[in-house]
Amino acid sequence: MLHKNLSVNEAGHLALAGMDTVELAKKYGTPLYLMDENRIRENCKIYIDAMRKYMGEGSRPIFASKACCFKRMYAIIAEMGMGTDIVSPGELYTANAAGFPMEEAFFHGNNKTDADIEYAMNVGIGHFIVDNQEELDAVNACALRRGLRQKILLRLTPGIDPHTQKKISTGKVDSKFGTAIETGQALELCKYALSLPGIELEGFHCHIGSQIFDYYPFRDAAEIMLRFIRTLLDACGHEIRTLNLGGGFGVRYVENDPVVDYEANIRGLAEEIRRICAELSIRQPDILMEPGRSIVADSGMTLYTVGSVKTITGYKSYVSVDGGMTDNIRYALYESDYTALLANRPKDPADFCATIAGRCCESGDIIQEDVMLPRPVRGDTLAVLVTGAYNYAMASNYNRIPRPPVVMIRDGDDYIAVRKESYEDLCRNDM
Ligand SMILES: *Cc1c(COP(=O)(O)O)cnc(C)c1O
Repeated sequence: MLHKNLSVNEAGHLALAGMDTVELAKKYGTPLYLMDENRIRENCKIYIDAMRKYMGEGSRPIFASKACCFKRMYAIIAEMGMGTDIVSPGELYTANAAGFPMEEAFFHGNNKTDADIEYAMNVGIGHFIVDNQEELDAVNACALRRGLRQKILLRLTPGIDPHTQKKISTGKVDSKFGTAIETGQALELCKYALSLPGIELEGFHCHIGSQIFDYYPFRDAAEIMLRFIRTLLDACGHEIRTLNLGGGFGVRYVENDPVVDYEANIRGLAEEIRRICAELSIRQPDILMEPGRSIVADSGMTLYTVGSVKTITGYKSYVSVDGGMTDNIRYALYESDYTALLANRPKDPADFCATIAGRCCESGDIIQEDVMLPRPVRGDTLAVLVTGAYNYAMASNYNRIPRPPVVMIRDGDDYIAVRKESYEDLCRNDM
């Protein structure tokens, strides 16, 4: 099957990490997010081990928690000894509430408010990833009021186009994120940062995009960033010791996507980084990477119950499920590919072409178009695979639909990581 934690069991049902998904759908109801905790841990370990082994002791992955954010998730990441990215005070709050060690957190975002900056310093965040000069001034001012020097990385745009989808490409010179190297603004910003008493410029950051299936775009970005490290060394005598290359390694959502060997890619990237550093005569900085989807995506799946099946003669057939864009908005946002199958009879011949629709009052509320399934009937359990990233995290209450629960599977057991929202939850803040 698509990933090794998926199988068909003796009952002929789809299983995730050996657990019968149809039974879990009965137990918890649908829609239901399932996540395979062991898979998450294995994915973390691939990055941790490969980065340490090939890129040196101080090199390590940082989980981009925007991909999947709730307390239990931060607890797992902390147990794995990984740091985390956070991009908003809400994520920061959640991590802190989960007992995440704040010195291992990196605060991202292209527009942190003064209140956000105060709050992050209150909880003792390790690093700010500073996007621009206004923010640098604000962080400096806040640090000085507290009599401390705040460690930062500067987010720079290397001017790379990884040829992924436009909406998830972020490293180009005209991106809304970061400060451009190409225009000379990055060097000016570095000089300015070095003049500020409340700022400790520890490193650089770049993030070129997502769904990248091999390390070549990362190598190109690393080369530009390492050259810039050399430039700064020559211009100011300041040595950058941390280079964060961002996230973005791809994930196999459908059979047509390649299988990504993260370990081999990290090894290949490490060799290139060593070579470039030697060419530039600089010490290799510690390398950080920020995987998001490749940590969590293949741990997850979403289960739905099929409702109406409607064929528009001569056109198409809609299979409506009891969830939709409120739990998975990615097809509506970027036409993301997903694999769907009937969890209660995955082996039946898939001879029916279905457009899977949600229950929201929006024509764009589609989970996937033109997928081949066994002809579904009301009451079937429909599984959408590889939904561990950017599904729960992007879920909404549109049409006052409560968010589904997140159930984790661990060592043959299941437990609730996030409770199902109730109708009272929906009205909690209504006056
Ligand atoms: C979104 C994002 C990531 C994670 O990207 P994935 O494709 O999920 O690995 C990492 N770093 C930054 C700065 C991001 O914006």
